[in-house]
Amino acid sequence: MVFRQGIWACLDCGHSHTLRIREDVLEFDRYCRSCQRRCRQRLDRARTGQGHPPTVLIRWRPRVMPWHALRAEMRNRNDLNRRRRAQDIARDHGEALESWDNRAGFRTASSIVQARADRAQQILERQEEGA
Ligand SMILES: [Zn+2]
Repeated sequence: MVFRQGIWACLDCGHSHTLRIREDVLEFDRYCRSCQRRCRQRLDRARTGQGHPPTVLIRWRPRVMPWHALRAEMRNRNDLNRRRRAQDIARDHGEALESWDNRAGFRTASSIVQARADRAQQILERQEEGA
């Protein structure tokens, strides 16, 4: 069986997961284990920057890379992601996470969509910096 492998990251929360998928599978469709968001992407064409905002960032790795090395990369990326999110919260709000509850509500559907797109863009930019 011919497969490709790599690391995929949910662009909502930044959580990374290992990925091994048959080469003839043209649709990526997984749930994020951290935030339960459904992440989908066509695998047969390059991202054009049009259409839906991306929900997932896939970093392909060579087929010869051992699985434990992929798992180690995933763990490192998730450690980094957790530290960055904690820093963001401290910097942006200067207060503890428990006080977020009353403010986390969005009034309209479009503000959720916009917030997601903004967050996806931020994560993409960061991951490109950190790659
Ligand atoms: Zn997620």
